Amino acid sequence: MPSRSGRCTIQKRRNVRCMCINIIYRQGDYDAIAVVESNLLEESIRRIINSNFEKCCPLIRTEVSTCVLNPTDWTKAITPITQAGSDEPALSSDDDFNNLFETEQIQSCLIDSCLNIVLIRFNEITKDGIQVSGKATTGGNLSAIDPVRVFEHADTIPAHEAGHALGLDHVNDVNNLMNSSLPVGTELTTEQCDIIFDNIDRFACPPRRVGRGILRR
Ligand SMILES: [Zn+2]
Repeated sequence: MPSRSGRCTIQKRRNVRCMCINIIYRQGDYDAIAVVESNLLEESIRRIINSNFEKCCPLIRTEVSTCVLNPTDWTKAITPITQAGSDEPALSSDDDFNNLFETEQIQSCLIDSCLNIVLIRFNEITKDGIQVSGKATTGGNLSAIDPVRVFEHADTIPAHEAGHALGLDHVNDVNNLMNSSLPVGTELTTEQCDIIFDNIDRFACPPRRVGRGILRR
């Protein structure tokens, strides 16, 4: 195994990695649409991972696909898991998050090889008094993010949740992306970049047909 500095040099010679992101939201959800149209999610992920290139993080680009559920299907997926009586459905626990991805409506949108991000409200405060803005399966490919919180509190939230999907756990350093309280920082350590490198190809973009039918990653 090459030394850390050696590995970093090798990383720098490698091609730009492409990360596939699949965004799922409700048709007519203006907060979600605003997030999607402003490219906030993918820009957050790109900006923060790429700004840690010197710490041996990969350089990434992103490809985004969307899955828009009509209000009827959205309601079928969301209503069983949300508190009755709330105007705008919201997730309020880990169980809600897990159950959301068990519904056939959300499953019909999932792409295994992408980071799947559902844009949905959160109504949950942790034991430490932190308002939850997003969740993600650590080392998995599922995430949910509150579009209003991204606008109002931190455009670093999508990168933080992507960090979990890329295998990162929380850390205490308030300047680090993986600190659990807002506003989260933008720094990653060399060790975290190593973990991202180990996971980034799980989200490799599908091959694109360019020129004369040549398939290229
Ligand atoms: Zn977190």
